[in-house]
Amino acid sequence: MKILLTAEQIAEMVGYLGARLSDDYRGKNPLLIGCLKGCVVFLADLVRVITVPHAIDFVRTSTYGKRQVTSGVVRAELFDVDVRGRHVVIVEDIVDTGLTLGYLTEALTKQEPLSLKICALLVKPGAYRAPVAIDYKGFDIPDDFVVGYGLDWGERYRYLPYVAVVDEQDD
Ligand code: 5GP
Repeated sequence: MKILLTAEQIAEMVGYLGARLSDDYRGKNPLLIGCLKGCVVFLADLVRVITVPHAIDFVRTSTYGKRQVTSGVVRAELFDVDVRGRHVVIVEDIVDTGLTLGYLTEALTKQEPLSLKICALLVKPGAYRAPVAIDYKGFDIPDDFVVGYGLDWGERYRYLPYVAVVDEQDD
């Protein structure tokens, strides 16, 4: 396993994103919506550096397919998330093809939020294939399968404090 982003690099980026969100959402009481499960570590750190009042909620998204392959079919459980009349920020750990975000954006837009923006910590090159604008973007990363900081490989490695690229020997 090769470390791609250290805990320190991630903390610095989370601080930067949190500061931008704090500036932009002053007085707006935004609703941050995390995409389970991968977002939990990022979201937990992000909310603690945002200095303006806000709320959090969760949706669950998954793509059918093998562990390292995005199949292209997105499934989302919106639970009872209610975004009507709210300023919403979707919080994603990683954007690969952008299909998940595209699907989620469409589903939430139907509920008529006041505004809808996207915050993603990691963005792969493939993201540019889908028409989703990432308003608050952390790191551009290579097109490798990564784990850690909430991201799993068959439910392993979510707990790592850094982001790493897995290789054959890790299986
Ligand atoms: P998209 O719909 O943008 O192609 O895929 C997004 C979802 O695929 C992410 O929320 C994440 O669950 C999963 N994913 C994409 N790339 C990676 C990766 O490198 N590592 C892990 N662990 N999950 C990934």
